[in-house]
Amino acid sequence: MIKGVVLSSANSGFEVEAENKVYRCRIKGKHLNGIEGEVNPIVVGDYVDILPHSQAEALIVSRLPRENCIRRWNTLRRMNQTLAANTDLTVIVTCPASPPFKARFIDRALACMEGGRPLILMNKADLPLSPEDRRRFAVFGEIGFETAAASAVTGEGMSYLRELFIGKTVALVGQSGVGKSSIVNALLGGEIRRTNEISEKYNKGRHTTTGASMLIKDGFRIIDTPGVKEILAAHKDPRLLLGAFPEFVNYDCAYPDCLHENEPGCGVRAAVESGKIDADRYESYLKILESMDSRQPDWAVKGKRRK
Ligand code: GDP
Ligand code: ZN
Repeated sequence: MIKGVVLSSANSGFEVEAENKVYRCRIKGKHLNGIEGEVNPIVVGDYVDILPHSQAEALIVSRLPRENCIRRWNTLRRMNQTLAANTDLTVIVTCPASPPFKARFIDRALACMEGGRPLILMNKADLPLSPEDRRRFAVFGEIGFETAAASAVTGEGMSYLRELFIGKTVALVGQSGVGKSSIVNALLGGEIRRTNEISEKYNKGRHTTTGASMLIKDGFRIIDTPGVKEILAAHKDPRLLLGAFPEFVNYDCAYPDCLHENEPGCGVRAAVESGKIDADRYESYLKILESMDSRQPDWAVKGKRRK
């Protein structure tokens, strides 16, 4: 048995890199040791134990514990869906226009991160940003998130990204059209090995739901998540949301388990009222909290958490 890392997944076919070789893999048996209730138990970036049965093929025997992951709510399947695991850096890509800047998309993307290091990137920096959007984007930096600006068209910020990305496993997350592919092309150039094409061939003749895939070239490992219109926070313990709202942690509340909704003596709400916390961020937080309530998976007991 050898340890490997998942490079691509499509339906039940995977590519796993182990000992400098790439194996086409399937999962051994029906289930992996107790992993159930997820759209896809194995995702790009997962560490797995595999059992090779030829030079190029192997069975995945188990998934090793994740250091971090990006997990969202899949509306169609009504289940949480992990997009990628074990990244060194997750870049949430946004832009001033086409599609319009949406700060709350960034809030939701941050809420999908379970551990890991986020970077919020303003691509298309060659386009004008409205003063209000500029202010809201700046808030991310003020509360401690890493932010950067770049343009895949003019090349601004590309050498910074190149230096930052090299040697790391980097996931790109963002709405379709923000310029993820353009950034990847600007960084990697030329022929890019898209691992999922191989997985798709492996699943030949079948409808493939392609997951993310890892692009490997010249010391770069970039996980290109499928283009999304929207990203919704996974259904999980609402206290896990606070990683996406670190500015709330500075305020004391009367109740230790305060979710900062209508609880009396809430220091966070007081900070919003006195302008210390950005009001739109707080609104965004409430929306996410509310959506998590209405987003009960079919198997969950309704209304168990709160009234
Ligand atoms: P993706 O869906 O996130 O992969 O976005 P694409 O890379 O396909 O880019 C979408 C559109 O935005 C294309 O027409 C690109 O030419 C354009 N685009 C990408 N990066 C930039 C940029 O930095 N500045 C400008 N002005 N346009 C860009
Ligand atoms: Zn509170």
